[in-house]
Amino acid sequence: MWRRPIPLDLYGLLMCRPSTWVDDGLTSFPDSILGYDISPAGSGHDMYFCTRCWPAGRLTRDHKEEADRKLGQWVRALLPFGLRWVGWMVFLGVYTFSDRAFDTCGPKPRGATAGQMAAGLCRHGCPKPKWMTE
Ligand SMILES: [Zn+2]
Repeated sequence: MWRRPIPLDLYGLLMCRPSTWVDDGLTSFPDSILGYDISPAGSGHDMYFCTRCWPAGRLTRDHKEEADRKLGQWVRALLPFGLRWVGWMVFLGVYTFSDRAFDTCGPKPRGATAGQMAAGLCRHGCPKPKWMTE
């Protein structure tokens, strides 16, 4: 598996993940295209979508559109020039189909396992932020 350098904004975002973080990369797409690993882009997109990674009230429509745009940019950056059209396809795919997963990690997070629920974590492994418990 090959991996091109991770874009700086994506790297910074990924560094903020809690140690308990889990995700499935790009939910409806393969994690690699012809041997190039694009899973970090999916992880960054999941962070954008996780209610618990942001201050209260941050997950607006603009935030969601920024997430989808960033995902397309990151996928393109992680692929060699000849495969960059895949980034546009991924962008169109998530832009069209990702609404159901956006902002669903509230006090009763969608998709969390029983173990995660018992530990107070969302499906991404994030604990409740302070603002959610006040
Ligand atoms: Zn989450």
